[in-house]
This record gives sequence, structure tokens and C-alpha cells, in this order.
Amino acid sequence: MTGSEIRRKFLDFFVAKGHREVHSSSLVPHYDPTLLFTNAGMNQFKDVFLGLEKRDYSRATSSQKCVRAGGKHNDLENVGFTNRHHTFFEMLGNFSFGDYFKKDAIAYAWELITSKEWFGIAKDKLYVTIFNGEGGVPRDAEAYELWLAQGVAKDRIFEFGLKDNFWQMGDTGPCGPCSEIHYDMGPAASDQGHQDCAFGCDCGRYVEIWNLVFMQFDRDASGTLNPLPKPSIDTGMGLERVTAVLQGVISNYETDLFMPLIERAAELTNVGADALVRPAEQSSARARGADLRRTDESVRPHMSSSSHMDSAGHKSAASLRVIADHSRAATFLISDGVLPSNEGRGYVLRKIIRRAITHGRLLGQTKPFLHEMVFAVRDLMQNAYPELKETAEQVSKIVLGEETRFVHTLTKGLERLGDVMIVEAGGTPGFPKPTDAVWPPVPDLVRECKRLGYPLKLRGVEAFKVYDTYGLPKDFIEDYCRDLDIEFDRAGFDLAMAEQRERARASWKGAAKQIANPAYQQLPKSVFEGYFILDHTPFYAESGGQVGDRGFFYSDELNAVVAEVKGCYYPVQGVRAHQVVVKSVPSVGGESKTPPSAKNAEGWGTRSTPITGVPRPSPSFGEGGGFDFTLRVGDKVDAVVDTAIRESTMRNHTATHLLHAGLREVLGKHVKQAGSLVAPNHLRFDFSHFTAVEDEELQDIEDMINKEVLRNVRVETIADVPIDVAVNEYHAMALFGEKYGDRVRVVKIGDFSTELCGGTHTGATGEIGLIKILKEGSVSSGVRRVEAVTGEGSLQHFRRDHELESFVSGFVSPTLAQKTRKNGAPIDDSGEKSTSPPSAKGAEGWGTQAGDVQAEFSPAEALKAELEKKDAEIKRLARELDQVRMKSASSSVASVGEKIKEIRGVKVLAHRVDNLERAQMRTLMDQLREKIGSGVVVLGSATNGNVALIVGVTKDLTSRIQAGKVIGPVAQKVGGKGGGRPDLAEAGGKDAGALDAALGEAYGVVEGLLS
Ligand SMILES: [Zn+2]
Ligand SMILES: [Zn+2]
Repeated sequence: MTGSEIRRKFLDFFVAKGHREVHSSSLVPHYDPTLLFTNAGMNQFKDVFLGLEKRDYSRATSSQKCVRAGGKHNDLENVGFTNRHHTFFEMLGNFSFGDYFKKDAIAYAWELITSKEWFGIAKDKLYVTIFNGEGGVPRDAEAYELWLAQGVAKDRIFEFGLKDNFWQMGDTGPCGPCSEIHYDMGPAASDQGHQDCAFGCDCGRYVEIWNLVFMQFDRDASGTLNPLPKPSIDTGMGLERVTAVLQGVISNYETDLFMPLIERAAELTNVGADALVRPAEQSSARARGADLRRTDESVRPHMSSSSHMDSAGHKSAASLRVIADHSRAATFLISDGVLPSNEGRGYVLRKIIRRAITHGRLLGQTKPFLHEMVFAVRDLMQNAYPELKETAEQVSKIVLGEETRFVHTLTKGLERLGDVMIVEAGGTPGFPKPTDAVWPPVPDLVRECKRLGYPLKLRGVEAFKVYDTYGLPKDFIEDYCRDLDIEFDRAGFDLAMAEQRERARASWKGAAKQIANPAYQQLPKSVFEGYFILDHTPFYAESGGQVGDRGFFYSDELNAVVAEVKGCYYPVQGVRAHQVVVKSVPSVGGESKTPPSAKNAEGWGTRSTPITGVPRPSPSFGEGGGFDFTLRVGDKVDAVVDTAIRESTMRNHTATHLLHAGLREVLGKHVKQAGSLVAPNHLRFDFSHFTAVEDEELQDIEDMINKEVLRNVRVETIADVPIDVAVNEYHAMALFGEKYGDRVRVVKIGDFSTELCGGTHTGATGEIGLIKILKEGSVSSGVRRVEAVTGEGSLQHFRRDHELESFVSGFVSPTLAQKTRKNGAPIDDSGEKSTSPPSAKGAEGWGTQAGDVQAEFSPAEALKAELEKKDAEIKRLARELDQVRMKSASSSVASVGEKIKEIRGVKVLAHRVDNLERAQMRTLMDQLREKIGSGVVVLGSATNGNVALIVGVTKDLTSRIQAGKVIGPVAQKVGGKGGGRPDLAEAGGKDAGALDAALGEAYGVVEGLLS
């Protein structure tokens, strides 16, 4: 039986027993913010078990994608080095929500695994366990009798205590005894080489394959166990282990769930076939330690005992297993929307990917390879998880990006590791560093240290810093040290790691609980200046990306607006706080300033009573006298939402849903919302996507969503839907990190978009008006952002564009202007075109004749052509001007004779020609030197207040006088300095006003130098 057949058979068995087959929920537990990843089949049914949620079925079965990594459940370091540790695994389960209980659960389980028709496992290989009664909880005698009734021999039923055979969801709530079914893999599976150990030994021989939880009690806060009125069943069978059992292999990695991946990994890392052979010396897999349901027992990482590692084949096999396991986890996590990052889920994913890459490097593969594994995972698992067909391409790109980034990390990390060890070695300056990320690193460091007699030791705390800062994996560091005979302080490393984990755990808890501002905990008694809480309100409070409503509070009594509401948000769940600025209004019977009667009529007002809040007086407090400024608890106000703002916001919200769906349609299903802002004037949408969105793609999206607008599709909101139904049956898009209640609201726009959303929406898409995407860009690695406008925003946008177009039309040459309209209104006075009514041409609308294409220019094209033409013209003119200037400068050469002076037998000329460029000055210098034959020429030019100087000395004189020496003192006069060769020197200056004087003194400078 293949692994896929086993999965199918399990589900078929329970469907035949009246169970609803429920699709696996996402690895990201939308319904439970306290969980990092979905880690058991029962996660998606938690609220059903708690009685908070009802389904239309009371029996369910599923094959659930699970990830356990980075927490107390699963030390990442073990994975690949044991037989049964995985980061990603599939949990098969059957569930009864107050329907059947122990009797049926036990009978079903026994039938499925022993019946020849189903799994047909030999009964003499099986053991079962029951709860023995401990800590005041009675023994599960009922289960004992039921197992006996199935024909299980008495000596095959074992009894264990609270630690092994009792389950609870938390400190309070549902709990109950459990029964486990174990399989005897035989002496070959024993890590410790036991030949005849008995059941209960944890050497790896006896493997738990199925755990049946009997939810029987409800533990209250005092610790008392009260019988649940409707006891329930929750079971979990690890697909990987049961497959190992049914395929007669000891390690999960030897099943067909892994072998194709391991083979592909071997190909991609160019490892020989010998690495695929199972190492004779089996690494430890303590069956109970590897228990999928409770893995809190400590398992020693195998990396730590180097004696296990001396066979190269073993090491390679372990690395291939790591790659196989981690490529499954990475593929499914990214497919479910997790992206590598430095925090939370993304951090765990990054660690998994990096560990896989590291093991590729240990096998000698320094080029990216892991991204190819994604396709191997898809090929193997797409039948059970069809979503992989759609996501694999994009997932692979993301993995490739991470691989590329990691090369950089390794380079930096190894460099740093070299630094750290140099310090340890005594800090020899100029020591050769291993800067090459290629494995193994250049061992010069070691050789040199040994030559110098330095002890080589890597302190744990330093190694951890490198691990933590650069992400250089521990395995990598350890292997680095081992291969180069460097002592690695593992204890120090582990201690540093434990400390950091403690910190991480504390911060995750904090994030999950969303601790509210203590100021709100005493509501409604507390006073919070500037914020108001009403007993009921029409104001939408900021959530799900949609901004809070704006509007005002109106007092009937005062016949005036008493406060302007600037926003509204949830300080705690269910309490809406209004951010207000209180108005000054006449105190008694006075006229209100601007009664909002007009708006009032349209507004979405309700009469409300503030139950808390005393406002800060507005800045205008006291002006004019006779005004009452205070809004007090107990006052009655009409809370009026600004309808225009709200409607604009609604348009943008519905447009956001269309945009989200359009992005997924055009770019792929990997696109998931990563952030959203729905404001009245625009919308902003962040989403996962790895490359820039092409202009054509953006246009496709824009066309597609505006088509939905024009179809005027009704926007349906379906309230009060159980979360599971919404996600798994409506296939509504749920957002990560968003906290959903047990029952959610689904917003459906035809067949185009279905999302979980609590926001406000238009009644139909037509109300949105036109959606115009304004820009697209990058937010961070793997996250893109699109901004768009709708309704009046689009109108404003096009009005501005039109204005620009009109301007362009006037600006560009008349011939072009006539041709600037594209598919628009009639373009010229030729009667036959403009007079044909739109109806005559039907859908084509007005516009030019179809054949008239070559004459059409868009305003942008016309402007571009015009600017290019003008640019060329400017360049031509500049060139001409230069030539004219040069000509006039050259013509001045003829008349410089009178300026030439003889100083100590040397001809000296100081000459000024303004507005010349340097190159022109050099040309002129050549002409002047030629003219005087032998001598010194000082040339100055002022342009826009800046001075350029050049001094030239004819070759025959450079032994007597050097240009560089002449230019210094001259440049100084104009506030500059310079230098150069003996025959030519240049300088700049800032004081154009002093140029004449500076040139006048040039003669004296030359005289001084010649004397
Ligand atoms: Zn044993
Ligand atoms: Zn929404």
C-alpha cells in the first residue's frame, strides 16, 4: 500500500462510518492566535469541542497538514537524525462532536488497523494502553473492558498515568483519558540493540501509531472534573509512522512518502547512491520521545555524539533526510502564505530553509538546489493537496531567493567566525581569514594557529552570536569545528540558545494575548480625555484595514454640533472609542453656528448616550462667553457619520476585494494580502509576490476588476458563518495574523471574490465607479504594494490628467495637437468624423476611423516627441553657441600682442576670455603658446561667478619655471587652488570679481619665480 493509498483508505473508512471528510485547514491557524502553526487534526475543530460553535455534522475525518518546529514540541536539530521526527507531517484523525464515544471509537480503530479489508496489521504486533487512574482521576475501566471486548489479550493491555495517558486542552476545559495503539517493530528497530526487551521500553522498538482521546470531563477553575454532557472523540494517527508500519520499514524516511524526495535530493546534491542506503548503524529514534502527540520528553540531538557520526555514509543519509523533510515543510508553509522573515512564523520557516541549504552544503552542493525540491514535493503530494499545482512555481522562486540571500549570510557568518576564533587564538593581527563560503572553509586559520601553538576553541557564547546575527546554523558551526579540529563549547552555545528561546517565548505570548491598554479595563467607569464611548453608535471602528468613520455628535437640546468625530477605533474588543474634538456652542437657546441639518438628514445617525468620557476643552474655549463647552457622561447626542466620507471608504473597500481577487487571478494564487489600508481618498494593498508586477499585468488586473465594476455585480454579505465553513466550504480568503471570532462574516462578489471581512461595502460593484491603479512598488522582500483610487478619486485623477492633456495639446506643435486624441471625442473639424453619432458606430463609440491609426498619438507620446525635438534643438543651439564663443576667443588671440611682457627674457601673457569651458580653454592655450613661441601664458575665464584658470609654460622653459608654481599664487587671489604638470596647470576659483586683479599680478608672480 502506498502512503497516498493509506491516507485515502483512512478517510474512506470513516466516511463509510458516516463521517464528513473535511479538508485540511491551513498551516497558519487563522482561528487560533495562540498557535504558531497548526499542529494537530483537532485544531480546526477546537471551538466545536468547546461547544462554542455548531456544525451541520457531528462526525468528521481529516488528513491535516501539521508543522511542529522551533517550539518545545520539536527540536529542529533532531529532525533527520532520528526515524520519526519531522517538521511537517500529516495527521489522520476521526472526530466525534458529542456523537459516538469510547465504544465506537475503539471498535472503529481496531477494525481499521486489523481488518484484512483495511490495514490488516497482525494483532500479535499490537499493544494498547489505557489510563491507570492517578491524581484523583479514576482508572479508565471502561476502555479496558472495551479493548477486551475487541479480543485484545489482557497481557497486551498496559496501563499508564497522567503523563502518558491523559489529555487536556489547557489548565481548564475539556480533558480526559486516552488510549494508544502501539506497534512492535522488532529488535532491529531498537536503538540500543535490545534483542528481547518488553513493551514499555523506549529504545525505539515499540512505536505509538494511534492515540484516541476520550474527552470526558470539563475541568473547572478549582480543578474539579465535571462530566461533559456530550463527551467527544479526538484521535490522531501519524500518516508517516503508520506508513512505515504498513510498508515494513523501520524509519519513516524509508517509506514512499520520503524516498522519492530523498532520491531527488541526492540527484540535486550530486551524492552517490551509497548515501541512499540505510546506514547499518541506526541513529536513535526513541519511539516515545518521537511521539507525535506529546513530544515534550527531551531527546538528545544526535549531532552531539560524534561517535554516531563517523561514517560518512550515515552523515550523508542524514543530510538527505533533512533536505527531504525540510523541503516538505518549506513548500507547504510558503504555499499557505508564510514568507521567510526574521520574526514569528517567517523566522521558523527561514530556519528550516537555511538548515536544508546547510545540509546541501555539507554534501558539497554550494549552488542553489532547494528550490528544485519544491517541484519534487509537488509531484509527490499534489493529488492529496491540489493547491500545490498552483503555488509550486512561486514557492520555488521564493525558496531560490532565500537560497541566494543565504550565500551572503554564510560568507558573512564564516568571516565573523574567523574573527571570533582569531580573538580566541590571541588576536594575531593580519591573520588569514576564511572568507570563502565554499565548504569546507579555507583551513589556513587552523594551520597557522597550530603552527603558533595557539589552542583552538570556539566559545559557545561567541558561536551563538554568529548563529543569531548571521543565521549561520549550529550544524554548520559544529561541523566546521569538528572538521578542522577546533574545540566547540557546545554547553555554552546551548545555554545562550536557551536564554534566547525564553525571550522569544515571552514575546510570542505577549503578541498573542494583545494586552489592552489598562485604561480601558475599568470601562465604563474610567475617564479618558478626548475619547468617547457611546452606548450604541453607527460609527465604524478602524479594523481590517478600513479606517474608522468620521462625523459629528449633534445635540438636540442645544440644536448644534457639540463635537467633531475625527475617528473611531476599538481599544478592546467590542468597545468603540470615538476620537472627538469638542465644539464651542451657545449655551442657552442660542443659534448654533452651522447646524448640520442638511447632512443630518442623510447621515447614518443614531441617538446615543455617552457612557464615558470627559473631553478636553477645545482650543477655542472661552471665546465669546455664554457658551457651554462640556460634553458630560449622560448627555444625549445624535452620532452622525459623515456619509460622503463613509461612502468613499466603502467604495475603496469593495475595490480592495476586487483588487485582491484580480491580483490572484493574474499573478497567481500565491498572492495573499500582507497589509491593507482602506481610506476615503485612496486604498493601499500589500501582498506577497516575489517580483515587480509588469505594466501589462497591472493593466490586465485593472481591466479585469473594472469589468467587474461595469457588470454591477451585487455584493453579498453573509453574516454569522462558522469559520471552518467559511474557509473550507465558501473558500473565503482569510488573512494571517487577523483574529477571527468563531463565527465570521463572508463578503462575496459574484464568483469573483469571497473574503472574510467585517468591513463596510457598496451594495453592488457599480457604485465603486472606476478603479484606477496609480502605482506599484516594493515594500520589503517578497511583499509588493499597489495603490489605487476609486469613485471621486478616479474622477479627480482623470480631471488632472485631462488638464495636463489640454496643456500638452497647447504646448506641442499644432500638427501633433490635432492628432493627440485617441479613441476620444472628434479630433478635428472634418465633418464626416465628428458628426457621426455614437449610436451609429455602436460599441466602437466615437473616434477616428479604424484605418487612421498612423495619425494617432496619445498626449504622452506627443509630449515625448515634442520634448525630444526641443531637447535636440537645445543641444544644437548650445553647440552653436560654443562654436561662436570659441571663434571669438580665438579671434582675440590676434590682438593679445600688447599684453605680452618680457620678464627676465621670458615672454609672459595673462589673458581673460569669459564663458569658456575647460576644453575650450585648453584649445585656446595651445593657440596662445603657439603664438608666443616661447613663454608663459596665464588664461582666466569667468562663468556664472566661477573662475577657471589655466597656466601653460612652453617646453623649452619648464626647467626654469613650472606651471604648477605659477598657478598657486594666482588661484589664491580668486579664492581657489590648483596644480598640474610643469608645462600645464589648472585651477578653479570662486571670486570672479578678483579675476582681473589676479591676472594682473600673474606677471609679478612669474618675475618672483624667475629671480
Ligand atoms: Zn528496548
Ligand atoms: Zn474586507
